[in-house]
Amino acid sequence: MGFLSNKIERNEIKAGDHIYTYRAVFAYSHHGIFVGGNKVVHFTRDPEKSSTTSFSSYDIMTSKSKTPSTTCTSYADCGFRQPESGVVISCLDCFLQSGALYRFEYNVNKAVFCAKVRGGSCTTAMSDEPDLVIHRAMRLLHNGFGNYDVVLNNCEDFALYCKTEILAKHGTSGQVATVLGAPLAALLMSPLKFVVPSPVVVTVTAGMYCVTRYKNDVGVRSDVVKVNVEDLVAMNDQKLKSQDEK
Ligand SMILES: [Zn+2]
Repeated sequence: MGFLSNKIERNEIKAGDHIYTYRAVFAYSHHGIFVGGNKVVHFTRDPEKSSTTSFSSYDIMTSKSKTPSTTCTSYADCGFRQPESGVVISCLDCFLQSGALYRFEYNVNKAVFCAKVRGGSCTTAMSDEPDLVIHRAMRLLHNGFGNYDVVLNNCEDFALYCKTEILAKHGTSGQVATVLGAPLAALLMSPLKFVVPSPVVVTVTAGMYCVTRYKNDVGVRSDVVKVNVEDLVAMNDQKLKSQDEK
């Protein structure tokens, strides 16, 4: 595994790993928890609900990958999900869709975190034991993880939650921080262009960009909470109940 790349081979993967792959020519990454037995549990948009929700262009792009494979010939349970749940189990092949395999890194120090060019590939947060991570993923497969939201509750948040038990109100994923961080960096860069030579600008911009991402990292943020998976399941059940009553 290289310093700047989290790319791994299939034989390096371990049960309880948070893995991801890039889709649509590096436009975005899709995340999941490898639970062993060649299976990945991941969080997707619930297809039954997506028809009633309005799409952004990002949604349209990602929704293609959200539908579990119905043509999987390797595993009968590939693509299994509970009705109305966005949490799905797929075999590794269907999850990767011939994309490369990457492992999300936990417990990285600030220097490594900032050295990563792309957001959404590592965190300073600590990962829990693999058994616990798998338990949470399987529990949520059978009980759901609330409503999918590209910004507030996406596949990366799901995987982060399974690994750390950390939940944030405003989404935890580095992918979103990257999207928000990049235009900000561009904005900060423009007035400086006139006063300092370009190599300095590049350094300043990269630094700003890192600060934006770092501040959004779940290992650093103060507005995140740890929620036990049993409590989370109970909370979601409660939410569904009150929705039904309305
Ligand atoms: Zn499959």
